[in-house]
Amino acid sequence: MRPISLAVRLLAAIVAGIAALPAQETMQTLPADNPFARPSPLLYATPPFDRIRDEHWLPTFTEGMRLHLAEVKAIAGNPEAPTFANTIEALEQAGALLTRVSKVFFNLTESNTNPTIQKIQAELAPKLAAHQDTIWLDARLFARVEAVFAARATLPAGEAKRLVERYHTAFVRNGARLDPKAQDRLRGINEQLSSLTTKFQENLLADTKALAVVVDTEKELAGFDTAAVIAACDAAKAAGQTGKFLIGLQLPTSQGVLASLADRATRQRVFAASMDRCNRGNEFDNKALVLKIAALRAERAGLLGFATHADYVLQDQMAGSAAAVAKMLASMTPQIVAKARGEAAELQAWLDANRPGTKLAAWDWAWVAEQVRKERYDFDENAVRQYFEMEHVLGGLFLMAKTLYGVELRERKDLPVYHPDVRVFEVFGADGKAIGLFYGDWFARTGKRGGAWMDNFVDQSILLGQQPVVVNVMNIQKIAAPGVTVLSFDEVTTLFHEFGHGVHGLFSTVRYPLLSGTSVPRDFVEFPSQFHEDFAFDPAVLERTAIHWKNGNKMPAELVAKVRAARTFGQGFASLEYIAAALLDMAWHSLPAGTQVDDVGKFEREALEKAGVAWDLVPPRYRSTYFAHVWPGGYSAGYYAYLWSEALAADAFAGCMENGGMTAQNGARFRELVLSRGMTQEPMAMFAAFRGRDLDTTALLKRRGLK
Ligand SMILES: [Zn+2]
Repeated sequence: MRPISLAVRLLAAIVAGIAALPAQETMQTLPADNPFARPSPLLYATPPFDRIRDEHWLPTFTEGMRLHLAEVKAIAGNPEAPTFANTIEALEQAGALLTRVSKVFFNLTESNTNPTIQKIQAELAPKLAAHQDTIWLDARLFARVEAVFAARATLPAGEAKRLVERYHTAFVRNGARLDPKAQDRLRGINEQLSSLTTKFQENLLADTKALAVVVDTEKELAGFDTAAVIAACDAAKAAGQTGKFLIGLQLPTSQGVLASLADRATRQRVFAASMDRCNRGNEFDNKALVLKIAALRAERAGLLGFATHADYVLQDQMAGSAAAVAKMLASMTPQIVAKARGEAAELQAWLDANRPGTKLAAWDWAWVAEQVRKERYDFDENAVRQYFEMEHVLGGLFLMAKTLYGVELRERKDLPVYHPDVRVFEVFGADGKAIGLFYGDWFARTGKRGGAWMDNFVDQSILLGQQPVVVNVMNIQKIAAPGVTVLSFDEVTTLFHEFGHGVHGLFSTVRYPLLSGTSVPRDFVEFPSQFHEDFAFDPAVLERTAIHWKNGNKMPAELVAKVRAARTFGQGFASLEYIAAALLDMAWHSLPAGTQVDDVGKFEREALEKAGVAWDLVPPRYRSTYFAHVWPGGYSAGYYAYLWSEALAADAFAGCMENGGMTAQNGARFRELVLSRGMTQEPMAMFAAFRGRDLDTTALLKRRGLK
C-alpha cells in the first residue's frame, strides 16, 4: 500500500463523487477538452490516460476544490433539518471532479512523475491541506453531522450507522470541537506540516542522488554481474564521469548492492553514504525539519486533547492505543535481538574461517550473510531467478486467484495506459459477472519511486454506482533477455503481496466510498496482502510459476525445498532493523507537546538504547533524517503496523492450512468475512470471524523463524 494518512484517505473518500450529476457538472469552467471535465466514458470510468497532459492538473484541481467547497457549503446551509441522506450521504456524493483528478494525479506522482508534476505537487500540498481543513472546521456542517450522530440509534444497524460514526470521529479528530482560536492554530499547523513534509521528501530525493558512490576501477565492483557493471559505467557517463563507475543509492530502504559487493572498502563507502542521507549539514539536511515536524505534531495532539501524537494516531487504529503497540513490540524484542546476535556470531565464524582477522562491521553484514546463505543452502539466487519468468509467475498468480476465488483475469489491449509497460486485465467472477479492472505496472523505470504498492483509480461504491479499478506497482528490473523478465523469489512474493491488496480493492461490496476496499486502518491493511504472500509457496502455484524460461524444465523439488528452507534465514537481522525503526518512530511521536529536543542524533541513540535495540552492527532500517514513512509518508506512529498486520496474516494463513490450504472454501470465507467488507466492521471482529478466535502471535514468530 501507498502510505497515506487517515486524513488524506478520508478526504479522498469524502471527495469521492457521484459519476454524473448534470447540474453540478455544468457549473464547471473547465474547457470541454479537459479529460477530467466529465466522468470518463471508458469501461468502469477508468481514467483516459491518453488524453491527460501536465497542463491539465492545476486548473482541474483549482476547479475541483471550488466545486467541492460549493457543494459542501450547500449541504451545510441546507434549510431542512439534518438527516442521514441530506448530510452524510450528501457528503459522500460531493466532490466528483476533485476525486477524479486526485485519484489519477496522486498515483502518477509515485509511479510516473517528472519535474513538472513534482512542482505542481509541492504547490498543491498546502492548498489541499487548507481545503480539507475548511471542511473539517465548518461549524454549520459539523453541527449537522453532530445532530445525525446523536440520532444514530434511529438508523438501521449496519453500514449507514457505521458511516455516521466514522464521519463524526473524523470531524472531531480534525478539530471540529475546538474553539475558533484553537482551530486557527490547527489550520496553521496543518499548512506548515504540509510544506515541511514536502520539503523533507525533496531533500531526501536530492541528497540520495548527490550521495551516489563513484569508484575509479572495475575491480572495486567485484561481485557485480556484467549487467550491473555496465549499468554503473553508463550511470557514471550520464553523470559526466566517463570511464568511472557510479553506484546510485536506493531510496528509501537499505542498499541491496551491499550483498554483492566483495570489495570491503566499496561496501563501507556505500554503507556510509546511505547512513548519511540528509544528515550532512548541507542544504539537504533534514534534522531541523524532523525537530519541527515532531514538535508541531505534538502540539496538534495537545490541542486535540491527547497527551502525544502517538496517542492521537493509535486511538483510531486496530491496536487502539500506544500502550498496546509498545506492549507488542516489547514482547517480541528479546527474541529478535537474541536471534540477530546468534546470526552475528555465525557471520563472524565465517569471517574467521575465510577472512581471518576481520571483525564483522555493519557494512559487511549483507555480503557475509549472502556467502553463508550460499554455503548453507547451496543455491544461487541468480539460478533461482531463471525459474521465475514473468508470464509463468502471472500464470501462477492467476491460478491462485482462480482456485481461491473462482475469478478470471482477461487482458485488455484496448484501454489507454499511462506508460507502455502497464498492462490491464478485466476481472470476472465465477458467475461470469464483471468485477472491475486490474492494472499491472510491474517494471522499474525512472520517474517511479522505489518499492511496491497498490492503489485505486476508482473506488468500489454501490451508492455511486462504481466498480473498482485498482493498480499494482512494482520495480522489477527487465534483465534476462529481450521480451523475457525473470524475478527473484522475493519479487514473486511481493507480486502476490500486492495482488492481495488488489483483491481487497476488487472484492469490496460496500455502499459507501468512505468504507470501501482498502480504506481500513493501516495496521489492518497489510493483513490481506501478507496473507496472500504465503500462497506463492503453494505446490500447485509453484508447479505453474517455477519453470525455467530457457529449457522449460520444472524447478527441481530439491531446489524448491532449499528456497523454502532459506526463507527464515537472516530474519534476526531483518526483524531487528525493522523493529528498531518502529521503536524509533514511536519514540519521536510519544513526545508530549512542548518537549524541547535539540539534537536528533542524541535523541535517536537514547531512544534505541532505552528500547534495548541499540547496536552498531544493525542500525534501524531507517534513521530519523531519511525515515520517509513517518515524516512525509502517512505512517507516523504507524511503522509498527506491518508487524501487527503480519501477525494477523500469519495466524489467518495457519488457520487456512489447518483447513485444507488453498481451497475454494477457504477463499470464499476470506472473501466473505474480510475482503468484501472494507471498513464496514471493526477490524478485530473481521479477523476473529475468519479465524474463529482472537489473534495469537505464535504463527508470526514461526513465520519469521524466531520460535
Ligand atoms: Zn503492502
